[in-house]
Amino acid sequence: MSDTTQKSLIGGDFLITETPAQDIFTLEELSEEQKMMRDSAKEFIDREVVPHHERFESKDYALTEATMRQLGEMGFLGVTVPEQYGGLGMGFVTTMLACDYLSGGNGSLATAYGAHTGIGTLPILLYGTEEQKNKYLPDLATGNKFGAYCLTEPDAGSDANSGKTKAKLSEDGKHYIINGQKMWISNAGFAEIFIVFAKIDDDKNITGFIVERDTEGLTFGEEEHKLGIRSSSTRQVFFNDMKVPVENLLGERNNGFKIALNSLNVGRIKLAAANLDGQRRILAHATKYANERKQFGVAISTFGAIRKKIAEMATGIFVSEAGSYRAAKDIQDKIDELVAGGMNHQEAELKGVEEFAVEASILKVFVSDLTQQTADEGIQIYGGMGFSADAPMEAAWRDARIGRIYEGTNEINRLLAVGMLIKKTMKGQLDLLKPAMAVGKELMGIPSFDVPDYSELLSEEKAVIANLKKVFLMVSGAALQKYMMEMEKQQHLLLNASEILNQIYMAESAVLRAEKHFSADSVEVAMAQLNLYKAVEKIIVAAKEGIISFAEGDEQRMMLSGLRRFTKYTNQPNIIALTEKIAAHYVEKGHY
Ligand SMILES: Cc1cc2nc3c(=O)[nH]c(=O)nc-3n(C[C@H](O)[C@H](O)[C@H](O)COP(=O)(O)OP(=O)(O)OC[C@H]3O[C@@H](n4cnc5c(N)ncnc54)[C@H](O)[C@@H]3O)c2cc1C
Repeated sequence: MSDTTQKSLIGGDFLITETPAQDIFTLEELSEEQKMMRDSAKEFIDREVVPHHERFESKDYALTEATMRQLGEMGFLGVTVPEQYGGLGMGFVTTMLACDYLSGGNGSLATAYGAHTGIGTLPILLYGTEEQKNKYLPDLATGNKFGAYCLTEPDAGSDANSGKTKAKLSEDGKHYIINGQKMWISNAGFAEIFIVFAKIDDDKNITGFIVERDTEGLTFGEEEHKLGIRSSSTRQVFFNDMKVPVENLLGERNNGFKIALNSLNVGRIKLAAANLDGQRRILAHATKYANERKQFGVAISTFGAIRKKIAEMATGIFVSEAGSYRAAKDIQDKIDELVAGGMNHQEAELKGVEEFAVEASILKVFVSDLTQQTADEGIQIYGGMGFSADAPMEAAWRDARIGRIYEGTNEINRLLAVGMLIKKTMKGQLDLLKPAMAVGKELMGIPSFDVPDYSELLSEEKAVIANLKKVFLMVSGAALQKYMMEMEKQQHLLLNASEILNQIYMAESAVLRAEKHFSADSVEVAMAQLNLYKAVEKIIVAAKEGIISFAEGDEQRMMLSGLRRFTKYTNQPNIIALTEKIAAHYVEKGHY
């Protein structure tokens, strides 16, 4: 049971509640067991994956499969799976750790691992019957068999519930006969257990099925030739009168979309974790190169232009870690709370992840966008060599690109996060209305001219974040009032709102992490401040764009004045000095 049961365990609540630093979990607090998991994952990747970079880049699918088998032998495929089904039964944070440190060495392996342990295994773990779990999980947990997840179709990608794959009960009632086609299926080349979604008869929604590889009528396309993750197997999957036993229906009929979404919720937060070690490795390569490469008679790491990039990369990692592990522990605590309340573990796991689906979407978008940017700057630090396949940045950049597309594109996740917040409010699960009205009132009032006491570490930064939350409430509240039921169609505005939302969650996570563990003169506090400064600037752009587009006259003037008031960072630190301090630390250290 968690030791932090008093904290808020409501997803999205961070927007209206002040989170004390002691309520967030950080990487600084790993248990000895978790540290062992982290170190053995990292050691495995350094030993078994990194030296084979060239093979992974040359479409060596067999190498990916063989490495996955090794991971199975070491227990890494069963981290989440309960012991009774052959796994290690570890908590959510440990699952994130494994995903983090196993994914940095190579994007193809990261995808194979994520697809197998996440969307390939979770649907059975979360929705399977006892018989299904006993039959399939032990093989999946040990790597005896691999899993794949077949949702996307040629005409049904983001609109996943619109698939044309059909299932029909056989005349003797013993089988479902499935016909259709899936596309972009990771692990399809070597998986033996497939989670397949199809519509039974003329059902409105899809239903999940467990399909074994040797099922008659199941065939595969050739390997796709891809921009990145070149040794990750990705194929089309065809069903031609494929006979699936009725007992392999997963969950309930018509409930497949829920299975798909809930599995993706977990997949999304794990995708954030899966990007973290990649970012750390890019930084290590980039600083090493910058220290060795000489131009104009000195190492390029002495140039401010390069140091700025290194400081920003390191800051991005600090922030990404802060948000990812904060949300992971919140999910774990929620699961523990539900189990303590009498809920069975399977149900609790589902509800725990569902509760923090907003945070999972925020993390997926923020970390995958940032990883692409980090890899891009990595190439820039390498100059011409960055463009060469002989240097590590080229593959890192290509591999990072997919993170913004799968597990729901970043556009879809941005829209989803804001949409889910609105839905939670409508359902009374989260009270955004009262705080939004309070912000409206504050806008009409006269601003206080009191000078607050900001002597405590990061107290001004926390006050800034509290005000940024008002920006979100002001902009989204006013837009919602204007468009009401039509809000869903206002994608430009929803994207603006999502940018504000993402920046708030990540900036707050970084500030709380820094406050919890580091001193005023630390590089971590500097990173939290640098990130907050940038977050404020991004929020100003996103909010202003929204306000001047949907509000007019007095309302627009009042909101723009509110925006100025709520984005004040009075004693803003010297940003160049902060950047230089961070750069100096990492240039000397040579890695994150
Ligand atoms: C390498 C790789 C591996 C994959 N692995 C798997 C897997 O294992 N299993 C699986 O089922 N799928 C897998 N996918 C599929 C992946 O999840 C989809 O590609 C993704 O969901 C997007 O669907 P789509 O490609 O059809 O794009 P579309 O849905 O056609 O989207 C095209 C563009 O339109 C935007 N868009 C679409 N709808 C909206 C909307 N309502 N509002 C605003 N913008 C919108 C998208 O954001 C995107 O920018 C994989 C894909 C790749 C490339």
